Amino acid sequence: PRVAVVMGTRPEIIKLAPVVAALGPAARPLATGQHWDAALTDVFFAGVGMPRPLQPLRGIGGRDRAGQVAAMLTGLTEWFRSDRPDAVVVQGDTNSANAGAQAAHHLGIPVVHVEAGLRSHDRSMPEEVNRLVIGAVADVHCAATAGNAEHLLRAGAPPEAVHVTGNTIVEATLRALPAAPLRAAVQEAYGVVPDGYVLATVHRPENTDDPARLQALLRALGGLGLPVLLPLHPRTRAALAATGAVVPPSVRCTAPVDHPTFLALAAGARLLVSDSGGVQEEVTVLGKPLVVVRRSTERPEAVDAGFAVLTGPDGVQDAAARLLRPGWPEQLARSSSPFGDGHAGERIAALVLTAARVPVLG
Ligand code: UDP
Repeated sequence: PRVAVVMGTRPEIIKLAPVVAALGPAARPLATGQHWDAALTDVFFAGVGMPRPLQPLRGIGGRDRAGQVAAMLTGLTEWFRSDRPDAVVVQGDTNSANAGAQAAHHLGIPVVHVEAGLRSHDRSMPEEVNRLVIGAVADVHCAATAGNAEHLLRAGAPPEAVHVTGNTIVEATLRALPAAPLRAAVQEAYGVVPDGYVLATVHRPENTDDPARLQALLRALGGLGLPVLLPLHPRTRAALAATGAVVPPSVRCTAPVDHPTFLALAAGARLLVSDSGGVQEEVTVLGKPLVVVRRSTERPEAVDAGFAVLTGPDGVQDAAARLLRPGWPEQLARSSSPFGDGHAGERIAALVLTAARVPVLG
């Protein structure tokens, strides 16, 4: 069988790598070009050991949301029409996943949605609307948790189409995390000492597109009393340049880093501060505390399990104090992840091959 695996952004590459690996030669990785910055794509394909993807589309990155979805829907429709995949896999909630799911659905090709059923209940987030659209057209919903599956059933998905598989980020993290000596070498190269620094990421529009909020967030990072490493997403770098925001002296901005490097830095950090979706999952695998700087989260599991506290920029200090209270970091280091057991990729691959109407071997 031929399975098109659609990827547009950094987290899709990271989270679909275990599915591509489990599918073996059936997988045809396909990059849409939504992320076009090499720091967010090329290093990731290499880093997760994925074959170089096909890149049938041109000129996708840098368009606005409607233009991007429209161009990808057209381009992927043409591609699927000539390539005739037996199933199409999309992941998460990006414009690429939205366009890939719709293109396949309109052509009658089975659509498998990985990381299905997340809901922030905040329709001002483009991601939330992408999730709703993909949920409406997908044929197989691979939910990471029972709570995610519940959202889909409540929205009317047929029970036989909803599967709790776990999230592939668990095995992606365990596979990409460097061994202890290499982690120490990475931390040394970045001039940080274990347990003596904060690792932060910021890239959601709610934080980058409001200059006052971005400045408040930087100020909060500067007030944590520890050195902060901030690998800058291109969107955030552009926002900083455009608004002339002041970066406090204790905050060191770097270029985005590859996944093993990010995990090595995360594993050594005392605390993480981020608005990322994937980082909310990774901290549960690494056993680390995380301040989530957002208005809402579609991943309440990390908060419920005590790994994360959701807050605005003004609440960062208090949230950090709560997460670092005596005994709690040690407790988190011993807790298991609510996002699965590290075998999601194999379960999803089996579901994909069934959807492609091919007998599942083994
Ligand atoms: N990440 C990375 N290098 C960085 C920053 C993040 O490898 O410099 C990884 C991180 O470990 C996580 C993923 O990128 O697996 C999260 O992607 P992002 O925050 O861009 O997107 P989101 O998860 O919010 O959709």
